[in-house]
Amino acid sequence: MTSDPDQRIRELTEQLNHWSYRYYILDDPAVPDAEYDRAFRELQELEAQYPDKARSDSPTRRVGEAPLTEFDTVRHEVPMLSLGNAREDDEVIAFDRRVREALGVEKVDYVAEPKFDGSAVSLLYQNGDLVRAATRGDGGTGEDITANARTIRNIPLVLNDDDPPAVLEVRGEVVMPHRGFEGLNERRRQRGEAPFANPRNAAAGSLRQLDSRITAERPLQFMGYSLARLEGQSWPETHDATLDLLTGWDFIISPERSHCIGVEELLAVYRDILARRDQLDYDIDGVVYKVDRLDWQRELGFRSREPRWALAHKFPAREELTVLRDVEFQVGRTGAITPVARLDPVDVAGVTVSNATLHNMDEIERLDVRIGDTVTLYRAGDVIPKVVGVVAERRPENARRIQMPSNCPACGSEIYRPEGEVIARCTGGLVCPAQQKEAIKHFASRRAMDIDGLGEKIVDALVDHDLVRNVADLYHLKVDNLVQLERLADKSANNLVQALEQSKNTTLARFLYALGIREVGESTARALEAHFGRLEAVMNADEDSLQQVPDVGPVVAGQIRHFFDQAHNVEVVQALRDAGITWREFEPEATQQELPLAGQSWVLTGTLEQLTRDRAKQALEELGARVTGSVSSKTACVVAGEAAGSKLDKARDLGVEVMDEQGLLELFESHGLKPE
Ligand code: NAD
Repeated sequence: MTSDPDQRIRELTEQLNHWSYRYYILDDPAVPDAEYDRAFRELQELEAQYPDKARSDSPTRRVGEAPLTEFDTVRHEVPMLSLGNAREDDEVIAFDRRVREALGVEKVDYVAEPKFDGSAVSLLYQNGDLVRAATRGDGGTGEDITANARTIRNIPLVLNDDDPPAVLEVRGEVVMPHRGFEGLNERRRQRGEAPFANPRNAAAGSLRQLDSRITAERPLQFMGYSLARLEGQSWPETHDATLDLLTGWDFIISPERSHCIGVEELLAVYRDILARRDQLDYDIDGVVYKVDRLDWQRELGFRSREPRWALAHKFPAREELTVLRDVEFQVGRTGAITPVARLDPVDVAGVTVSNATLHNMDEIERLDVRIGDTVTLYRAGDVIPKVVGVVAERRPENARRIQMPSNCPACGSEIYRPEGEVIARCTGGLVCPAQQKEAIKHFASRRAMDIDGLGEKIVDALVDHDLVRNVADLYHLKVDNLVQLERLADKSANNLVQALEQSKNTTLARFLYALGIREVGESTARALEAHFGRLEAVMNADEDSLQQVPDVGPVVAGQIRHFFDQAHNVEVVQALRDAGITWREFEPEATQQELPLAGQSWVLTGTLEQLTRDRAKQALEELGARVTGSVSSKTACVVAGEAAGSKLDKARDLGVEVMDEQGLLELFESHGLKPE
């Protein structure tokens, strides 16, 4: 930074003009408003000190930016100006003093209304019909956005008036309400598109679409705040009456407007609206004070780019700059891994922020944010602060790229991100401390293990008192442990232990669903049960075999495989079975009809030379057979290896078919199996 005022004025002018272009024309601000405003004020002060050094292209002399050539241009008969602004009470008091002195009166009536944070629009009606809508542009010339404005539902296309004025020009702001903004950004993220940094950009960008069908899909609202022209009808006398007139024609105006007498009342309204700012449906960035009497407004007139009869009292900014020092990865209740930014502490709208969300790796890539970068932080109400932009020109040389770890920071299980999915998750669902409460609640839920009496509060208490770490621990609970918990009477404790006991008798489908494997809902769990019949078969199936199951695609198959690849998860499954959870296992129906040995019961006995028992058993099962340990008249075949004993005898007695190892190998070969 230079101390030569001439050069500093040039630097600031160029910088601000570049930022304005990014803001007004590209709808893609390079820096937060707070940063722009600081530079703007510095320039204003320097220009006041050295008036002859001010440049002709100074942003302090202009409004907005010239319109884009893609749109037809519109000349504003009544210019669309800016507003003088104040941050401190003193500046408001000085404004009121200037107004009173200029008018020579003791007290002034004002109207205070929210300063909507959107995009200014002018609507022209002829004989009651909307004929043109325009953006502010540089105040003198704007863009013709009539087709887009017609898609905004609360803009009247025809005035609600039997005898409408010949000409009416209404000014107001197009805003995007919070709920619509969050929803729009969510949809954009899901489609892999860049989300908008804030509702103002979203509103401005939506309004300036060349294809009005896109605008039509955006949740926009028009809030009216003044009249620019009125012909064929007499003007109202006050601003308050103007707003009533607009309401009568079905325009929406802010319900927050107040009539104030004197500056104290203005400041009281400011504090009241500031306190309620987060509860409003749309973003506002301050309160605008306007002299109520229109004749007094005319008397006060204008000063270059702003009226003397109005002032914008700005709120603390929602966006600020800070430096990203590090990124940590956190595991959510459902295993989602979220990158969290550690920042140099900074005050954003009255709260010191040192952490913010970066959402996911796609977002990090999209922002191209690196550790060491200067970033823009956005905080609205209770929403978690977010990093929404990077100031590319302030990147230090040693900035570091951000990388997703391969293992969960809470439990060490593998982190898995299926192809095409945005969110990466920890696969240690049954063991991860970050996920334990959710995992247990899901396990106990009605359509899973249906453990009556194990509600949310009790799960929280069990985990908080370290009585239960994973779902298998539930089955070791005793009435004695439970009665220690506050709020649990003896009877309830007894009932819960009984409910746990009862839940042990379940079905494979319920059990699979209860494990909380990502993407495995009830119907997938039922399909897995029908297809595989046995838990081991599901646990051992590779991704290809899993995809044989109806409705199981690569994503679901990947989730199941990754879940059972975590040794800790498998240990918990085993612990559950050891605790006595059972279900009826069966040979899967689907395969029974198709496989060559479907429905047959085989017995292996004696020592096999070329195959292990396990391998032979597995291969027989692949052909559809059930391999059992005892021979009966229903046994289809006994495979007798070396030194076969009593089972072979019994088979002969019962007339059951007997096969040697060679015969077995030939059978496998004839079906394309080569077990070794
Ligand atoms: P402004 O937005 O501060 O105030 C004027 C505007 O307020 C009017 O055009 C009107 O659209 C709007 N307004 C909202 N509610 C109103 C109401 N109830 N009554 C009357 N008007 C109302 O001034 P400006 O000249 O449009 O722009 C300056 C602002 O833009 C500053 O806050 C600045 O930080 C920001 N800006 C930011 C960047 C950046 O790079 N971040 C660049 C340029 C401008």
